[in-house]
Order: sequence, then structure tokens, then C-alpha cells
Amino acid sequence: MNRVYNFAPGPAMLPQEVLETAAGEMLDYGGTGMSVMEMSHRSKGYQAIFDQAVSLIRELMQVPDNYTVLMLQGGATGQFAAVPLNLLKKSADYVDSGNFAHGAMKQAEAYGTVRCVASSKEDNYTHIPVIDPEKLDRNADYLHITTNNTIFGTRYTSLPDSGSVPLVADMSSNILSQPMDVNRFGVIYAGAQKNIGPAGLTVVIVRRDLLGSPSPLCPKVLNWTLMDEKGSMLNTPPTYAVYLTGLCMQWLKKQGGVAGIYEVNQAKAKLLYDTLDASSFYRPTAVREDRSLMNVTFTTPNPDLDAQFVKEAAAAGLTNLKGHRLVGGLRASIYNAMPLEGVRALCDFLKKFETENK
Ligand SMILES: *Cc1c(COP(=O)(O)O)cnc(C)c1O
Repeated sequence: MNRVYNFAPGPAMLPQEVLETAAGEMLDYGGTGMSVMEMSHRSKGYQAIFDQAVSLIRELMQVPDNYTVLMLQGGATGQFAAVPLNLLKKSADYVDSGNFAHGAMKQAEAYGTVRCVASSKEDNYTHIPVIDPEKLDRNADYLHITTNNTIFGTRYTSLPDSGSVPLVADMSSNILSQPMDVNRFGVIYAGAQKNIGPAGLTVVIVRRDLLGSPSPLCPKVLNWTLMDEKGSMLNTPPTYAVYLTGLCMQWLKKQGGVAGIYEVNQAKAKLLYDTLDASSFYRPTAVREDRSLMNVTFTTPNPDLDAQFVKEAAAAGLTNLKGHRLVGGLRASIYNAMPLEGVRALCDFLKKFETENK
């Protein structure tokens, strides 16, 4: 067996240990004689798996008691609609920091008044836009941000001060990668396939006082209030994705939790950015101050060399390094499950490729 270092932006690498445990339990979970995939979501056995996954997320993120943790479907994209359908009454503010941030804003426009309070679109999202506090609506229903911009490789290094306006964050690509004070947010949501577990699950964390007044148009499956009342089981949850997520959370706990993995994530990002900065061959595309710890975007001197890089890297067991078409070049996604050795191998390859093609 030859496992590669998979630098895909999502679905992304999972810890090998998790996959091995899942493989071992595939045909007979805990003496039940069936796979988790075959268990009723209403069974006691499955409820225990589900409850453990939720409680580990709560523990690892230190989610306060006045927040609910929902395990939903529909991806972060589903939440682009769920956010306005659950919260938008009069007007909402959005920060346009990337393609997903833009998509969230556009989706919300279908449901009410939406204001774009800052954008870095004109600079092709190479940085986090500066938010002028004067521009924020102090009576907005919420302020929406995207904490890490997966495609462009930027992240917020400090959160905007929204005052009493609830801060709503799409945290899909950096949730659980660094300590975040949940108290600063009204709502946090994330598709699982980057930093939580496999695709199919969407984690939504909602401050309880924000429940209770969804739009009458809100579909039941996106209705946080109803899903909270039903323990996320209004209908069938993504049972296997929740189980794998629980295993990933146990793994994360063993790495020293979020604080422990943050150390590793900083070391990985530093190693990679230092290697890129030390070279005049590669050019990182995001501004230095806003560089993401999860998605590292860069180019070689020309698109032909970018393509050659992707091909030769894949042959060396370093896969999925092609950048998103909106940025071009290359992107290395180095989420929690990417080991330091994987980044070391990539840095060695970067140096070798430069020497051969300079
Ligand atoms: C991947 C991603 C999305 C889209 O997630 P889906 O689960 O595919 O809907 C949205 N926002 C961000 C920041 C992402 O990284």
C-alpha cells in the first residue's frame, strides 16, 4: 500500500489512524454484527456514537452551554441560505473576502436586504479587506465573515468588532485548526470535509438566544430552531460521516486538542512559507499579513511550469497541488490531518524542482 500526501482543499486528507479504526470496525461495529452505516439512526447504539461526536466537538472547541451544536447536511453552501432564513429580518452586513464569502452574500440577497461592508474583490482577494467600523450597521441582524478563504489562501488574524451585532462565521476551512473563542460569535458553521471529518456533515454552532424566530419560508432541514428541538434528527442525519467525525475528534484530542494541533499547524505553515520566501522562483500570492495557515497559494514563474510542477509532484506522491482556477498557480492545503512530514516532503520537492527548472 502506498499512501500519498494529499494536499487537496477538500474533501481532504484524514488521519491514517482514523481510517484504520474505521476499516477494522467496518463489518462489525462493537459486536453488533453490522456496520455503522447499517445502523438505525434511532437506535440506542447509534445515538451513543452521535452524542460522543457532539460532546467531543463541544469539548475541543470549548463551546459554552448557551450554544447548541447541530449536525446537519447540505454543506456550507446550504448554510449560505440557512443563515438569512434563520436570522435575517431587516438587514445583514457581509464582508466579501473571497469566492465563498461572495457566494454567501449573493445567496442571502434572495431573502432580504444585504449590505457589502468591505470587499477585496478588486484585488482578486489577495488580502482580507479592511473593515471601516463606521460602515457597519449597528442595528444589523448579523455581520457575516469567512474566517479562512480557502481558494485565495488568506485568513483573519483578528476578528472584527461587531459590538452587539451577532458575528456569523463560515469557518469551513479553519475550524479546529487554531484556538477560537466561541463567545465572540453568534453562529459558526463549517462543512466537515476540510478540517473536521468526511464530506456529508455540516457542523453549525448557534448561540441559543438566536434561535426561535426563523423565517416562515425556512425549509425544515435548514431550520436551526427545529433541528435543535429534534437533536439534529428531524430526519436521517449523515450517520457514517458523524461516526468518522467522532473518530477524528478522538484523534485530535490525542494531538493535544486545538492548542496542540495549532502548534503543529504553525510549524507546518512556517516551514512552507519560509521555503517559498527564501526562493525567487516561487511567489506566494496572498499578502504576508493575511496568509492562511491552512491553504498556501503560490506560483512558479509561468503557467507551464505550474502544470509541470503538479504533474511531477504527483509522481513523487504529493498530490492535488493545482491551484483553483480563480487564482491559478499552485495551492497546498495543509489541514490538521496533514503531518509535518508531508510538508517537509513538499519543501524538499520545491527545492529540487527549482534547481531543475531555474
Ligand atoms: C469548501 C468551502 C465552502 C463550500 O462548502 P460545501 O460544504 O461544499 O458547501 C464554503 N465556504 C468555505 C470557506 C469553504 O472552504
